[in-house]
Amino acid sequence: MTTYDLLIKNGTIVTADTTVQGDIAVKDGKIVEVSTGKSLEGTANREINAEGLHIFPGMIDSHVHFNEPGRTEWEGLETGSRSLAAGGATSFFDMPLNSTPPTINKENLELKRSLAAEKSIVNPYFWGGLVPENIADLKDLHENGVIGFKAFMSPSGIADFNNVDDETIYKGMKEIASLGSILAVHAESTVMCDQLAKEKIEAGKVTARDYVESRPIISEIEAVRRIISYAELTGCKLHIVHASSRKVVEVIKAAQQRGVDVTVETCPHYLSLTVKDIEEQGVIAKCAPPLRDEDEVEDLWRAVAEGEITTIGSDHSPAPASMKVIKDNIFDGWAVYQEHSPA
Ligand SMILES: [Zn+2]
Repeated sequence: MTTYDLLIKNGTIVTADTTVQGDIAVKDGKIVEVSTGKSLEGTANREINAEGLHIFPGMIDSHVHFNEPGRTEWEGLETGSRSLAAGGATSFFDMPLNSTPPTINKENLELKRSLAAEKSIVNPYFWGGLVPENIADLKDLHENGVIGFKAFMSPSGIADFNNVDDETIYKGMKEIASLGSILAVHAESTVMCDQLAKEKIEAGKVTARDYVESRPIISEIEAVRRIISYAELTGCKLHIVHASSRKVVEVIKAAQQRGVDVTVETCPHYLSLTVKDIEEQGVIAKCAPPLRDEDEVEDLWRAVAEGEITTIGSDHSPAPASMKVIKDNIFDGWAVYQEHSPA
C-alpha cells in the first residue's frame, strides 16, 4: 500500500472551471494523486477530513509591498509572508517600493531576493521598478528574473521612487516591449490630482470627502487613456493596477477590443469599502486612488461578475499605526502614492 505524507479526504476540490468531491494525496511537498468518485487507498503520516470544506489552489497575491529592506518595521518579508500563508496564499509578487533601496537595479533585486530566501515562508517573486533614472537597468533586471516592471504616473509618496515623465514612459515601454516583459502602472493624472488638492487645501477644505474629490475617477481615466496610447505606440504589454471604478475598466475593455494587450486589477478595498468608511475612519481608510461611493462599488462588482477584471490583488501596503492617526487635515495623513505623505 502506498504511504503518503498527507491525505486530504472527502473535500470539495475547486479547479479552474468546476468543483468535485474527492481526495488529494501529497508526497514530498507535491500533489501526487487526486481521486474523484472513489476514495484514495493508502496510508499517510497525516490525514485531514475535509468533509464540508472547499480545497482551493494556492492563491497568488500579485500586488504586495513588503517593505524590507529599509522599512521592515512597517512590515517585512517574515510577518508578511506568514500572513499570506495563513490566508491560503502560496506566492506573492512584491512591488519595487516601499523598500529602501527600491528594486530598480540588479544589486537591489539581489539584496531583496536573498532576504526573501531567508525569511519568506511562501514563494517570492519581484516586480522591478521603472523610474526616470533606470532605463539602462531594465534589461539586467529582466534577465535576473523580475516578473515585470512597475511605474507611477503620479508621485509615489516615496522619495527614492520617482514617477515617470513622458520621455521615460516612451523609452521605458519600448525597452520593456523589446524584452517581452510587461509594465504595471499606477494611473492617476498628476496634473489633475495636484491642482485639485492645491485648490482644496488653499480653500481650507480638508475633510475625507474633499480628499476623495481631489482624486476623481476622471483622473484615472485620463491617465489610463494616455498610457494605453503609449502601449499602442510601443507594443508594450500593459497592466493597470488598482482600478477603483468600472468606468476605468470600460476604457481598458475598449482597448482590449481594439487588440491592445492590456489587463486590469482591482483590490478588495474598492469592492468592500466606500467613501463613508473614510469619512468615519479618516486616514486609516485613505488610499490612492481613493475609495468610491456605493453605486461605484456595486458597479465594480458587476465588472467582476462579468469577467472584465483580470486580477484582484490586495495592494497590501502597510504603514505604522502612528502614520495612520486621524488628523484634522486628511491631506497630511499617510497613504502610499501621494505627494503629501511623509517619505
Ligand atoms: Zn501597491
